[in-house]
Amino acid sequence: MASYDERAIFETCESAIRSYCRNFPAVFTSAKGASLTDTSGRRYIDFLSGAGTLNYGHNHPAIKQRVLDYLASDGIVHSLDLHTTAKQRFIEELISTILRPRGLDYRIAFSGPTGANSVELALKFARCATRRHNVVAFTNAYHGMSQGALAVSGTRSKREGAGMPLAGVTRLPYDGYLGDADTADLLEKMLDDHGSGLDLPAAIILETVQGEGGLNTASGPWLRRVRQIASRHDIVLIVDDIQAGCGRTGTFFSFETMGFTPDIICLSKALGGMGMPLSVVLLRPDLDVLAPGQHNGTFRGNNLAFVAGTAALEMWRKTSFEASIQDVAARVRGKLADIVELHPGHGAHVRGRGLLSGIGWTNAAIAGRVSKEAYARGLIVETSGAEGQVLKLMPPLTISPQELEAGLAIVEEVVAAVVVADVPHNRHAVLEDATANASM
Ligand code: PMP
Repeated sequence: MASYDERAIFETCESAIRSYCRNFPAVFTSAKGASLTDTSGRRYIDFLSGAGTLNYGHNHPAIKQRVLDYLASDGIVHSLDLHTTAKQRFIEELISTILRPRGLDYRIAFSGPTGANSVELALKFARCATRRHNVVAFTNAYHGMSQGALAVSGTRSKREGAGMPLAGVTRLPYDGYLGDADTADLLEKMLDDHGSGLDLPAAIILETVQGEGGLNTASGPWLRRVRQIASRHDIVLIVDDIQAGCGRTGTFFSFETMGFTPDIICLSKALGGMGMPLSVVLLRPDLDVLAPGQHNGTFRGNNLAFVAGTAALEMWRKTSFEASIQDVAARVRGKLADIVELHPGHGAHVRGRGLLSGIGWTNAAIAGRVSKEAYARGLIVETSGAEGQVLKLMPPLTISPQELEAGLAIVEEVVAAVVVADVPHNRHAVLEDATANASM
């Protein structure tokens, strides 16, 4: 573990906005696959994976070698949006390995390196193409921290951080938000009813699995209905696949098994192969309405990311790669189901889809305690949801069976320890309540 002195520079000089490092305060030095090492030589298993950026693990040998070779050849590193061979190869690989085999015909727009950049550009395309301003976004959505992306995001505390009104968005309930009620009915009714007060939107933006919002999943029938409703009203359907895409749910795009096709897709995070910043917007060709330079940015030509991203996409040439992710996901989901069965207290239940899965509890504090105790035992695993009520497991898709088993064993042990420790605490609380009521 890092000593106080090692951390002092961060604690005294870095802004209070730092976040992940508060829960995992080690000072890290190196990483390989699903393993991170800190300055004291302690190793941690990484079930955080850069929040879905390190789908191929840290320093994947084939990806790293490609980057090293490229640097050794004095390949262009920065290029604004000039043509480079690295970018050319990335586009060719994206089309030949991912888009064409799936029958998808999209233009590729490079938005700037972050996920939020991609969301901002997607919203611009939709608004300019339809000449409407309003956007429908869902409860518990997370789309990024810049103003447009924040406006479509749900978390209250993050929205308050904008310090100004976040306009141009109508919030509607995501699938399952109102229990058994079909929230697509509400969307349809409000769009059809000219008295509903819902300005006809340019776009509907959604995640098929809400990664930050608590691993809420949208069902196939709900997604297909939203698709039909959007088409009927000429509304652009944007799927933010920044976290759920690039293989996280078991297929390259998270919507592939859901029986619908979006008009626009936002991709980022694992697209850069080994954590190199890279984002794109994939859009229906007729939505490509912005003028040259109307969206611009210095860092739209991150050639190391193109090189790393190309090497990563090449892994998808073999269908066995997809099958291997699904095997890992089945193992994780099986273990989570076992844990929930063993420790059903506090409303424990399995959430999410594929390798974007976890356990939710009605007592939100449990997930935080599990994450903290897991860290103490050498596993980095975060929480998600508005109250941090969900333990979110995101191992690399390429994790070795040994590391996977070791990480899952820690989760199992820690859940048992935390749930057992919580029983006397609850009994105590119940007794206190009973005493308080008796004295009233
Ligand atoms: N959309 C989704 C679904 C995300 O999970 C994230 C990041 N967690 C973003 C957008 C924003 O990406 P970035 O942090 O790179 O701006």
